[in-house]
Amino acid sequence: MQLTDAISVVKGIGEKTEKGLNKLGIYTVQDMLEHYPRAYDIYGRLMNINEIEEGEMAVFVGYMYMNIETKKVRHLTIASCRVKDATGSIGLTWFNMPYIKNTLKSGSYYIFRGKASRKNGMLVIEQPKILSKEEYYNKKDVLQPIYPLTNGVTNNLLSKTVKAIIEEIDLTGDFLPSTIRKENDLVEYRFAVKQIHFPKDKEEMLRARKRIVFNEFFLFTLALTYMKEEKSKKIRKNPYDRGSISDALIEGLPYELTNAQKRAWNEIMKDMCDGVIMNRLVQGDVGSGKTVLAALALAMNAENGYQGTLMVPTEVLAKQHFESLSKLYEPFDISCLLLTGSMTAKEKRLAYEKIKNKEVSVVIGTHALIQEKVEYADLGLVITDEQHRFGVKQREILSTKSENPHVLVMSATPIPRTLAIILYGDLDISVVDELPANRLPIKNCVVNTDYHSTAYRFIENQIQEGRQAYIICPMVEESESMEAENVIEYTQKVREALPPFIRTEYLHGKMKPKEKNEIMEQFAKNEIQVLVSTTVIEVGVNVPNATVMMIENAERFGLAQLHQLRGRVGRGDHQSYCILVSGSRSKETKKRLEILNTSNDGFYIAGEDLKLRGPGDLFGIRQSGDMEFKLGDIYNDAKVLKAANEAAKNMSISEIQKLCSKNERLKHQLEGYIGTTL
Ligand code: ADP
Ligand code: MG
Repeated sequence: MQLTDAISVVKGIGEKTEKGLNKLGIYTVQDMLEHYPRAYDIYGRLMNINEIEEGEMAVFVGYMYMNIETKKVRHLTIASCRVKDATGSIGLTWFNMPYIKNTLKSGSYYIFRGKASRKNGMLVIEQPKILSKEEYYNKKDVLQPIYPLTNGVTNNLLSKTVKAIIEEIDLTGDFLPSTIRKENDLVEYRFAVKQIHFPKDKEEMLRARKRIVFNEFFLFTLALTYMKEEKSKKIRKNPYDRGSISDALIEGLPYELTNAQKRAWNEIMKDMCDGVIMNRLVQGDVGSGKTVLAALALAMNAENGYQGTLMVPTEVLAKQHFESLSKLYEPFDISCLLLTGSMTAKEKRLAYEKIKNKEVSVVIGTHALIQEKVEYADLGLVITDEQHRFGVKQREILSTKSENPHVLVMSATPIPRTLAIILYGDLDISVVDELPANRLPIKNCVVNTDYHSTAYRFIENQIQEGRQAYIICPMVEESESMEAENVIEYTQKVREALPPFIRTEYLHGKMKPKEKNEIMEQFAKNEIQVLVSTTVIEVGVNVPNATVMMIENAERFGLAQLHQLRGRVGRGDHQSYCILVSGSRSKETKKRLEILNTSNDGFYIAGEDLKLRGPGDLFGIRQSGDMEFKLGDIYNDAKVLKAANEAAKNMSISEIQKLCSKNERLKHQLEGYIGTTL
């Protein structure tokens, strides 16, 4: 068995299962090995009932002192009862499991396990598992992988498949030189793969994790080294003429640029007018006004006779940028074009033609921009917005669509400078560290779930005053396919809680781009007042009239992500509010959310968050889930990132090639990264 083999080589994987695995992004044996557990399940010690906390997993012995009652509510059969021990009692509920009534006998003791939640102010456990003594003691203190799932793919299937692969595949031949391994106290790769999936205990798992994270960062640095080398080979470019359009654009803005924006614009301009090839990252907190910098650079590029592109991660954002840029460019002779994946084949063909014949000078779109069929006429500038959503590879493909385009990358991810230098090692950095002066700081509050009705009243009042609101829906843990259902159900609840003149709609990841665009457009026009959404809303969206961001299950998000979500409000002249609803009363959650409550500064938040959670806090939440690392988290694993960078950055191209020639696996992975053959 080889890592590059299709996953169907594993015994027992038929066509149907393979399709399911494909949905999870698993095509090869390697993909399967790199489908890492998102968490591990541990059956801890038996708790007392009075120790059970909201939002936490509990396992305990309960005495059935009453019979189970069942009732029917719409299509649901609900079975419920209460159990007790010497310290207290708790409610249990099961849905659509009428036979439970015959399984559990009043007057007996059972071991129950489940997550506690609060219903009408009381703690209950929904769908608790019933464990035999044997089951419990067999599983106690053993870490069992919990994998990301999809419809038709069970945790059991994944864990069996991984086990089968590990038994058969040859993972010897570690590509990391043993000196590097020793220096950094790293376990062997083969051992790491086994232990990350089936760790003996937490300590082993952390060691395995460290090694795999190191690998990811090491490979990443090698890829950067390669690209830097490629770039330094490139010749100089004809210097741009400063022209008059960008100044006229600035003159015509309804506001004055902040000093930070002016500084960044000067740096961009200098790059382009100096005859070097720009490779620049613009890093600025949400709402710091990065879009206008892109608009200025694209205008200057057009005035110099070149085509330019602006690539963004979502269709909603592409549309929004297209509209605001078109409007901005109206007085000038700059034509814009929108190119997205959801356009019809005919529309796309037309767009390709216009691009090729140079009928347009600014092309805005999603990753459709880098499709093979797009041929640019004379690409002078390539901008990617919200860069953390794109891999190095995509950025690279776009810049190879022409000889030597200027490259500008815009990101709101608050990465400390020391890390940014590593992660964007091939780029110069401009920092936009100032918010427009007219902004009122967002008012924050952290509340628990009892606060719902007050929050809805608050939203209602804001809407009465003409404003709008976002609500980030509670999360479903079980599977992504339930996400849609969950959003729809929750939206219904919100509709019932608000008066009928308020229009509430929803947005989720499973909707077609066209549907999403329509909803977003109506929200932008205030035809929709409340938008219930999953986190698909988080990047870049700009509706300045929205003043409330209410986030359910705030405890489940990383602080950086919460900060991004919050950044959707506070974009206009009105006072804005962020309501963080936490389903957990744990001290740690409180402390973490308190950071967000007291600060609106993304860099400060990322730094404080880092202090609170030690490295190896594996059960924590991934902060940078959209970076290109599967396991590594640039915040939590900052130390490993630095170490891997140290180890890799001084390798010369010939050393890297030598390493690759000795190890097919490394070569293969590195090629995957940079998108070309070595
Ligand atoms: P981000 O940096 O998050 O991409 P945007 O570019 O979307 O931020 O800008 C957010 C909002 O701020 C937009 O409505 C934009 O028009 C406005 N804006 C940008 N620069 C300024 C400024 N200097 N003064 C006032 N408003 C500004
Ligand atoms: Mg933006």
